[in-house]
Amino acid sequence: MKKAKWLFLFPALLIACRQQEVADDRLIIAASIAPLADFCRQVGGERVSVFTIVPSGANPHTFELDPQLLIRISEARLLVLNGLGLEYWADKVADNFSSRDLQVITVSQGIPVLQDEDHAEGNPHVWLNPLHAARQAEKITGALMRLDPLHAQTYRDRSDQYQKVLHDLDVEISREIAGWQNRRFICFHPSWNYFSERYHLEQAAVIEKRPGFEPSPGEAAEIIGLAKRLQVRAIFAEQQFPLKIAEMIAAESGARVLVLDPLGSDGEGYSYVSLLRTNVAQMAIALR
Ligand SMILES: [Zn+2]
Repeated sequence: MKKAKWLFLFPALLIACRQQEVADDRLIIAASIAPLADFCRQVGGERVSVFTIVPSGANPHTFELDPQLLIRISEARLLVLNGLGLEYWADKVADNFSSRDLQVITVSQGIPVLQDEDHAEGNPHVWLNPLHAARQAEKITGALMRLDPLHAQTYRDRSDQYQKVLHDLDVEISREIAGWQNRRFICFHPSWNYFSERYHLEQAAVIEKRPGFEPSPGEAAEIIGLAKRLQVRAIFAEQQFPLKIAEMIAAESGARVLVLDPLGSDGEGYSYVSLLRTNVAQMAIALR
């Protein structure tokens, strides 16, 4: 009922908002998550003004759009979505805008999808493989070139440079992980499947059996048994999820809890490259 009310009010808010003059001619881009926002900035440079929809620290699987965010999205020319069900709220945006106002691109399209029990539409965490990230950045490049053909060459050049940065990052991570003694981990939520596929890590178990639900005592005992049997050293936890259960499993099995962050806090100094480096450094504490 509450939602129906603000949707009803929305057209009036939208008109009020469109009447405000935009101070510069930069292309406004709304990106669903911080890594995609960074790809837009890397390719768009000074030509774009980018904001992130899912705020720092929020879990994208449970995040809800509010009317203020819908208003901000209404000011954008381009909406960049990851896809694979990560933006389950995207229909709400589509209901409110005609395709003429807002270009929408889904940047996981074309990337081979991994399936798991936690994600009904396939695992959406594709960006954690830097080579998939490179494909996502390329999709953004195409969209910017179409939307702003006058500056197409600038986008092309910046994108080519960034492709090299991402491929170098892939080589750097491959080299680091090649030297690790342990490759098995347990995670709270299966965020690292594409990363693991790329760098040959092995996900032994997932603590969260269904999104938003903690395991039963029986399921937790099963995971502890598995962790002991397979001598798992690392439990990948995330700030967005409850730490207590991961700590309990770690205490019982002798593994170590590593707090990872698949999204990072968008803001000054944020970059996807440093996000991945920080996560790899965390993993290395237990796996190297
Ligand atoms: Zn997920």
